[in-house]
Amino acid sequence: MSDYDQLVADTQATLERIACDFSPAVFASSLAAEDMVLTDLILRAKLQDKIGIFSLETGRLHKETLGVLDRIKETYGYDVALYKPEQAAVDAYVQQNGLNAFYDSVTMRKECCRIRKVEPLKRALSGNKAWITGQRRAQSTTRAALDVQENDEAHGMTKFNPLADWSEEDVWHYIRSNNVPYNPLHDKGYPSIGCEPCTRAIQPGEDVRAGRWWWENPETKECGLHVVDGKLVRTKSVA
Ligand code: SF4
Repeated sequence: MSDYDQLVADTQATLERIACDFSPAVFASSLAAEDMVLTDLILRAKLQDKIGIFSLETGRLHKETLGVLDRIKETYGYDVALYKPEQAAVDAYVQQNGLNAFYDSVTMRKECCRIRKVEPLKRALSGNKAWITGQRRAQSTTRAALDVQENDEAHGMTKFNPLADWSEEDVWHYIRSNNVPYNPLHDKGYPSIGCEPCTRAIQPGEDVRAGRWWWENPETKECGLHVVDGKLVRTKSVA
């Protein structure tokens, strides 16, 4: 068996184990390439009754990203659950600070992420034993110490990153060889895709996450979804 085939088999085994031992579990999909690999693996293995798939509809996503939801429905007949921010909190932020105040400071940016992502995520995770992300170790300095299975103290549950060991090449090999639908922005220089105003295309040779919150220092570039006790938990190198 090739290294790639072993990687896929290990990931399938991880998902089966989550379905068996950690149900109900949920997969938080950002609808990016990695998330489409996991979506395909979960739905092909018919694990959706044990592992639900949701996405955070922040209200600031690209139309191309929203289009991925339709492609998932067309391809797999599956409706991704959408979690939206509390409208009153969004309205208060915009009224007090402006629609795009996240450019003004890290504090303002984190508050926008808290309202549009962190709070809806808490709602989406509530009542589950485990959650799953499509994060990979190689994606950024803040993800360098990522494990396949972690204890997420902040959310009081187990967190799985089944693609932690995958390379970008592995992800695209899987997508191409299995005809998995993906966000067309990936073909336009967007390896990492978040909200529209906070994501830009990158140039060849730039870090894959350089287009996310590009106006900030790399050490602050997480949205609060993967932070424990207010601290980044994956800033150290892998031993
Ligand atoms: S990524 Fe940008 S627009 Fe989206 S929630 Fe965070 S600060 Fe707000």
